[in-house]
Amino acid sequence: MRRWRYKSGAAARLRYMQAERTAKDPMLALQGVTPVALAEALSIPLAEARKVVSAVHREKDLAVPLREVRRASLDRVRAEGVVPALQLIREESSQLDPFRKLLFSDGRGELFETVRIPLERAGRFSVCVSSQIGCALACAFCATGRLGLRRNLEVWEIVEQVRWVRRGLGEGERVHGVVFQGMGEPMANLDRVIEAIRVLSDPSAQAIDARCITVCTSGLPTGIRRLARELPKVRLGLSVGSAVPQARRSLMPIDDTFSLDEVLDAAIFHAQTTGLAPMWAMTLLHGVNDGDEHAAALADRALDFTRRAGVRPRVSILAYNHIDSEEADPFSRTPRAREEAFREVMRQRGVFTHKRYSGGSDVAAACGQLAARPSTHGGTENPHACALGFEGTR
Ligand code: SF4
Repeated sequence: MRRWRYKSGAAARLRYMQAERTAKDPMLALQGVTPVALAEALSIPLAEARKVVSAVHREKDLAVPLREVRRASLDRVRAEGVVPALQLIREESSQLDPFRKLLFSDGRGELFETVRIPLERAGRFSVCVSSQIGCALACAFCATGRLGLRRNLEVWEIVEQVRWVRRGLGEGERVHGVVFQGMGEPMANLDRVIEAIRVLSDPSAQAIDARCITVCTSGLPTGIRRLARELPKVRLGLSVGSAVPQARRSLMPIDDTFSLDEVLDAAIFHAQTTGLAPMWAMTLLHGVNDGDEHAAALADRALDFTRRAGVRPRVSILAYNHIDSEEADPFSRTPRAREEAFREVMRQRGVFTHKRYSGGSDVAAACGQLAARPSTHGGTENPHACALGFEGTR
């Protein structure tokens, strides 16, 4: 097989990611590349690369000739590219709301999850994607954190989650946005997350407006700054945990490395660079971070942020979703009256909050609940087994 030729920019990024591919698996996953990267990697004209990427994302058969793509270029694509498929293990629809959770296998014995989130406007959906299988950051209120990090998802595996949801939509329905809030810390897999966003927002690929893509983090400052520089249209979400340092440290071990001060400095850089207000997510845990002093500290942080960044954070209050049986779970949900009191303390200090509904809790699809377990069904399948134009697993 011909070796990849890399020239610059997009192809260099591709080379970096391809370097981690095993010798057993040397093919290029076509749904994980932008037209620019494909053109540079295969030395084909950009216009042809656009046609190929468009055909891949619109699931056209690459086994037959494509209009306006020379045969020599298409032969090169066929020789060096594949369109791998995820294997859908289970799809569960919530009985409580229109949320839907999809459980995928990577074909190597690992499982991960994706959630289809209905938006207010009928027929529009957001896709909550995973960026890692498991997570090393071990936030105490998150089921994924209990798994430890198993591996980073590849670019195509992130993109494929969105493609899959799109395939299941009916007439007139569409994917409006993507939120990186599934399994994993996206900033810890940022090379691939950035590349996936480039693909998702490319007009030839998924054509999702970058302003409708949000990357949610527990707070890795370097990643936040890089996201601002490289993808200035993409929104930032922050999981706060608590604005009281001791409480935050007890809930989020990452606080030992990066304090909330450092995270917010990076978030201010993001806001100033992009002009976008971040979303702050605060999951209330009864008796842990839902007291008046926590509300006051959070409000003070929000006011300080507004002063320094020039934009107001959108503070979302989330109810805790059990990650264990109620008896075994170390946390419990904040009663409604306490939640209202928390929000009132913030309101009195001039900070208005939003109550965010996190749906699908009956199928463990709500925030914090994603915890696909390692598969017991072997692991011998080749995830790239699917030849061009024959996407098998649906
Ligand atoms: Fe990892 Fe996010 Fe869960 Fe924390 S909340 S353990 S960063 S997946």
